Amino acid sequence: MSDATHRTISVPEGTAQFRILAALNELHLKYRDLSDGAVADYIPELARANPREFGICVATTDGQVYEVGDASIPFTIQSMSKPFVYGRALEDRGRDAVQEKVGVEPTGDAFNSIIKLDLANRPHNPCVNAGAIATTSLLSGDGPTARLNHILDMFKKYAGRDIHVDMSVFMSERTTGHRNRAMAYLMLNFGVIESNVEEILDLYFQQCSVIVTCRDLAVMAATLANGGVNPMTGVRAVEHQYIRDILTVMYTCGMYDYAGEWAYTVGLPAKSGVSGGILAVVPNHLGIAVYSPPLDDRGNSVRGIRVCEDLSQNFGMHLFDAMLDDRAMFAGQDESPNTEKRQPAQLESNVTDVFHAMPPSTTTANVMQPRGNGQSSNQAEGKDA
Ligand code: GLN
Repeated sequence: MSDATHRTISVPEGTAQFRILAALNELHLKYRDLSDGAVADYIPELARANPREFGICVATTDGQVYEVGDASIPFTIQSMSKPFVYGRALEDRGRDAVQEKVGVEPTGDAFNSIIKLDLANRPHNPCVNAGAIATTSLLSGDGPTARLNHILDMFKKYAGRDIHVDMSVFMSERTTGHRNRAMAYLMLNFGVIESNVEEILDLYFQQCSVIVTCRDLAVMAATLANGGVNPMTGVRAVEHQYIRDILTVMYTCGMYDYAGEWAYTVGLPAKSGVSGGILAVVPNHLGIAVYSPPLDDRGNSVRGIRVCEDLSQNFGMHLFDAMLDDRAMFAGQDESPNTEKRQPAQLESNVTDVFHAMPPSTTTANVMQPRGNGQSSNQAEGKDA
C-alpha cells in the first residue's frame, strides 16, 4: 500500500526488517486458529464483526510500519479513544481542572461498572466509561459540531490521515446505551457533569465510533511512544508534557479489570476496546496494535492479549526489564548480571533490533516508510527462509 505520506518497499531476506515481519507473521500463524472468546454484541452493530479477522501491526518511532494480516480493515475505536481524549482534555483544561472531575485510580471493576460512582464524587479514572464520559464533557469547543471536529482533528494528527465516524455504530450505541446514559445522569446529579447530558453522550458515542484500522492504531501508539509527534508525518498530536499522564492511566487502567495482570505479564501502557483492538506503547521505540474481534470475559481481545504477551516476553519489552537492563548499561557492565534475563533488544539504537531473536519464516506483509528516504517503491513480497 502506498499513499501520500508512505510507500511500500521490498524487504530483502536477512535484513532486520525481514526479521520483524517474520516475527509478526509467526505470531499471526500461531494464533489465527485460536477460536476462544466471543464478539461483543451488547452494541448490536458490533455483533456483525467477523471473528476471523486478525491483524497485527508495529509502527516504529523512526517512521516504519510493519503489518501482517488484516491490518487495513476498518473498525470502530471504542474504548481505545479514551486515553487520547483524556490527553485532549488535559490540553484544553489543564491537569488540576481535569483531576477535579476524574481521578486516576484503577477500579478493578468492569469498564461499564456504575457501582463506584456512588461511593466517590468523581469517577475513578478516564478509562472506565463513567470517567471517559466525564472527560469528554471537559473538551472545549463552541457547540457539538465544533467539539466533534475538535476530536476528529486530534485523531487525524495521531493517525496521519482523515478520520470519520461510523454512523451505524454511533446510532446503535446511542439507541442502546442506557447504562452509559444512567451513569451520565448520575454524574449530573453529583455535579461531575454540569449540563447538556445528551449532547455529551452523543459526543462520547461518536468518539467511540471513530473508524480506524490496526495500522492507524499502531501509528497512534507510536505517536505516544515518540513523545506526541506522529513519526510518519512529523505533526505533533499532543503536548509532550501530557504523554506521562496518558501513559500512566493506560498502564494502570487501560485493560479494564485485567489491568494489574497485564502490567505484570506484558508491562506496557496499553488500551483495549470492545471492537477487538489493543494498542500498546513501548516508549521511545514503537507502537503495537492487534485487531481481532473475539473478546474474553473482561472485554479484551483474546488473540490481542496473546500476541502482546508473546511480543513482550520474547523480546524483553516489559518496562521494568528494560529499566533494569538500562541500569546495568549505565553501570558499564558488558553483560547483564542476571544470566536468565532476556535481552532488552529494544534498547539498541536501531529499534528494528527488537526482533533480532526471531528466525525468519514465511512472510507476506508490508513495510511502509515515510517518503523521502531514497528507496524505490514496490510491494513487499512473501518469501520462505
Ligand atoms: N462505546 C463503548 C461503551 O461505552 C466502549 C466500551 C469499550 O470499548 N470497552 O460501552
